[in-house]
Amino acid sequence: MADSDKTVETTLGAIRHAGMRVTRPRREIIATLARLYVPATPREIHDALDGACDPVTVYRCLTEFEHLGLVHRHEFGDGSTRYQLVDPDGGHFHYIVCRRCQHAERIHACPPPELEAAVAGRGYSQITHTLEFFAICPDCRALHDQRGREE
Ligand SMILES: [Zn+2]
Ligand SMILES: [Zn+2]
Repeated sequence: MADSDKTVETTLGAIRHAGMRVTRPRREIIATLARLYVPATPREIHDALDGACDPVTVYRCLTEFEHLGLVHRHEFGDGSTRYQLVDPDGGHFHYIVCRRCQHAERIHACPPPELEAAVAGRGYSQITHTLEFFAICPDCRALHDQRGREE
């Protein structure tokens, strides 16, 4: 089974466990989130669903999933809220985001544990963190260089 299929099955299991029915929109949205791989806005999720459900349903389902702790919310600094499935294995992801085209890429790294230790050392518990990098992606950079030559 592919990782994304495993994530979908585990997430659907958690929905059932919460006493909710796995309706078609819920299933389709979860599968789409897994397929998109990087955080997506409700509009992007709606577009990727190809008319499988209306925008209001997408938004309502995402809110439900968030309350159940099944999705993480990401802010990429452009005023949109993006959603991504929580890793059933308890991991989480960080991203590099292009400031121009909003292309996002997963990076498999976390801030060094010393940072959390420093926070814990001040008496804080249940510590979480977010970390996103903002940059210009290679495609946008190439486009920019090309434009520069044409002018
Ligand atoms: Zn870009
Ligand atoms: Zn991390």
